Amino acid sequence: MLKGKGICVIIGLIFGFAVLHLAFPPAQHGPRTTGAVMLGGTAFLLMTCSIILSTRLEALEDWFGGLDRMYQVHRIAGVFAALTALVHFFGVPKELPEAVDPIANAVAPSAPLGMLGLIFLVIGLFIALNRKIRYSRWRPTHKVMGVVYLLIIGHFLTAPGIFFERFSASGIVLVLAAIVGLVALIYSLFGMNKRTALPFTIESVNALERATEVVLKPIDRMLEFKPGQFAFVEVEGKGWNEPHPFTISSAPGEDRLRFTMKVLGDWTRKVREELEPGGSVQVRGPYGRFDAIKAGERQVWLAGGIGLTPFLSMLRSMGKGDARKIHLVYAARDERDAIFLDELKQRASELVNVTLVPLFSDEGNFARVDMIKRRLPDPLGNYDYFMCGPKPMVEGIMADLKAEGVSRNRIHTEAFEFR
Ligand SMILES: Cc1cc2nc3c(=O)[nH]c(=O)nc-3n(C[C@H](O)[C@H](O)[C@H](O)COP(=O)(O)OP(=O)(O)OC[C@H]3O[C@@H](n4cnc5c(N)ncnc54)[C@H](O)[C@@H]3O)c2cc1C
Repeated sequence: MLKGKGICVIIGLIFGFAVLHLAFPPAQHGPRTTGAVMLGGTAFLLMTCSIILSTRLEALEDWFGGLDRMYQVHRIAGVFAALTALVHFFGVPKELPEAVDPIANAVAPSAPLGMLGLIFLVIGLFIALNRKIRYSRWRPTHKVMGVVYLLIIGHFLTAPGIFFERFSASGIVLVLAAIVGLVALIYSLFGMNKRTALPFTIESVNALERATEVVLKPIDRMLEFKPGQFAFVEVEGKGWNEPHPFTISSAPGEDRLRFTMKVLGDWTRKVREELEPGGSVQVRGPYGRFDAIKAGERQVWLAGGIGLTPFLSMLRSMGKGDARKIHLVYAARDERDAIFLDELKQRASELVNVTLVPLFSDEGNFARVDMIKRRLPDPLGNYDYFMCGPKPMVEGIMADLKAEGVSRNRIHTEAFEFR
């Protein structure tokens, strides 16, 4: 579920625009045209919000609860933009109002630009939502959405004045949105990767069970981060393509930066097979708001497989006087699959406030609320929950916890995917 200030701002913006458009319409139309034009403006505002969210601006993370949440809202805003644009298209009457000069309208590019924009928007959305397309192929095609945005700006700026009046109240909102959206688009496409990039040297590449630990030594200075945060890792060299996000599994204060990467696709396989000590890596970040420090005293950390990485950092950074009582539930297929199990056992024995609860599915123990409940000394409602792992696991546990009466505010999740 999504929460936060950012969502309220988006809803407030759409609502404010609708009120302005209805209270001070650019022209006297029937309700159908007024409504259809308003939905067109709404679609454009949603696209603008979606573009702003793709800038990965750190300031926005607090408003939305982390970069992974920003991408969720980015996606939802895109879907609603396409839906409202479709209703706008079918809603606008095809016969022109009398006040519009048919010759002037025939030469105005508004209609073809809008039509093209809508077609590309719908196609782009189908591609964007298709998880079967490999990320490295998907990403460049997704950038084409920038062209859709330009087409839509062209569409409303050249629309006959009877529909869109630049100096009407709602028209001013759209023009301002277009300016902000264009700046965000340029920044997103060309600027953001230059932000906070720190150079590192690869010190070691350690093969684990179906995962690889990459240990990095800073060249200039160490990245500052909080346990649970992640960063984009970009390997320098041919064929490494785009940066990939990984949670930092070392603790703040260590003199090395560590990432633990599950072997999943081409890039992570290449890390395991080809990455060598001495190579150069750029790290950008930190990002994310998966922070267990400020939550209540009793906490359950739920890690599914590679979802252990944020908790590794949290555990590695925890001091002996920590007042929290933590149950770390670590779900894996079997003991062999549970990477860092020995270290976790060791830490749990050193830190009296941490109880390790391994759940191995091969032994009939699954990451399910009934299994977890049996292993907790207090009722489920007394804990704050932090979860990271496969989507079905996280969603299933979240639904069951809510059904058991745990407040949504006490459940915190980190998604390992942006699309
Ligand atoms: C916030 C966050 C934290 C993460 N932390 C970890 C971690 O600590 N350990 C770990 O093993 N994995 C982590 N991941 C997942 C990791 O980024 C992907 O598994 C990895 O990028 C897969 O790349 P691939 O080419 O090998 O696999 P592919 O099969 O190409 O990709 C698998 C999936 O990974 C995602 N992905 C691929 N490339 C990128 C990219 N460049 N940018 C964003 N997403 C991409 C896509 O959702 C894709 O469907 C994290 C992801 C996110 C979003």
